[in-house]
Amino acid sequence: MTLDLHVDGDRWRAHLRAVLERRPELVPVAKGNGYGFGNHRLARRAAWLGVDTVAVGTHQEVREIAPRFDGDLLVLTPWRPFLPDAVALLTDEDLAERVVHTVGRTDDLAALVASPGRPRVVLEQCTTMLRHGFSPSGLREAVEIAGAGGVRLEGVALHLPLPQGSHLGEVERLLTDVVAAGLDGTTVWVSHLRDHELDQLAARWPEMRFRPRTGTDLWLGDRAALRVTSTVLDVHPVERGDVFGYRGRTAPLAGTILVVSGGTAHGIGLEAPTGDASVKARAAALARGGLDAAGFVRSPFSVGGKQRLFAEPPHMQSSMLFLPHASDVPSPGDVVDVRLRFTTTTFDHVLVS
Ligand SMILES: *Cc1c(COP(=O)(O)O)cnc(C)c1O
Repeated sequence: MTLDLHVDGDRWRAHLRAVLERRPELVPVAKGNGYGFGNHRLARRAAWLGVDTVAVGTHQEVREIAPRFDGDLLVLTPWRPFLPDAVALLTDEDLAERVVHTVGRTDDLAALVASPGRPRVVLEQCTTMLRHGFSPSGLREAVEIAGAGGVRLEGVALHLPLPQGSHLGEVERLLTDVVAAGLDGTTVWVSHLRDHELDQLAARWPEMRFRPRTGTDLWLGDRAALRVTSTVLDVHPVERGDVFGYRGRTAPLAGTILVVSGGTAHGIGLEAPTGDASVKARAAALARGGLDAAGFVRSPFSVGGKQRLFAEPPHMQSSMLFLPHASDVPSPGDVVDVRLRFTTTTFDHVLVS
């Protein structure tokens, strides 16, 4: 019973190459569930692309990527003395030289300066995201601490919110702070800038080197290369009033219960109820047979080109869908399409053609 990600290999690889061509300073991001592909696969893909650095989310993930990609590993989570995996990397014979730590507080930087070896660091500036990072005065202080030795300073990092309008105003302010801190001509590790914004920045700040850390637009940027399918496991015709499911619900009308692969273990959750609470939408729902009025909620599974309703909340590894009577009913073994968030889904197989 499988929930599978099918990748059109030629198309996907062509897209990856095209992104690298537009962004020669690209730093692929491999973290979390590996954007649905798995971090091990992304690590090998990054090696195939020929980039010199991969960004990982956490210090633990360094160990997942390192055997499959032999370049540098930038850790996006800021280094903290209370994260055991972060501390362990400092004295790891094989990895200490390859890992670049993100630092966002002066205390952490002081701890790294005092640590064995000379850890490689980038200083994160706090952006309007307010996630991590130094204030402008904090950055000046950090540059002084780093300048005294004990660490190798490899640039500054800015984590910008997702694109809405232009980021350039904010980036310009942050770069002014970078220069004020004495880091003219450093490497600036950025996220979520569009190609034209990167081009404009490179033109306006020619002494800086911009390195875009990119995950979604790289791995998932060509959705047409990706297809997710689930397998029909069982089919049960029901009459109105028939009882089904863990909760002993009754079918609100005649139709079919379809059992498909894919459940909570894959990251499939209940989606928002279908309403659209407008009177018109509700009237339309009732006219459709009262399914959402009966409390059925939308599922990510499509059958016959239509997104279908869960008959009840997804189970651990499968889901029950309700198809109203007139629908074309697939057979066990058929596959149906699924639309879901790649960053929250664990696939049974990733099949790259
Ligand atoms: C996840 C992450 C990225 C990549 O984000 P995408 O939206 O997947 O491109 C870049 N920078 C930081 C700090 C991140 O945590």
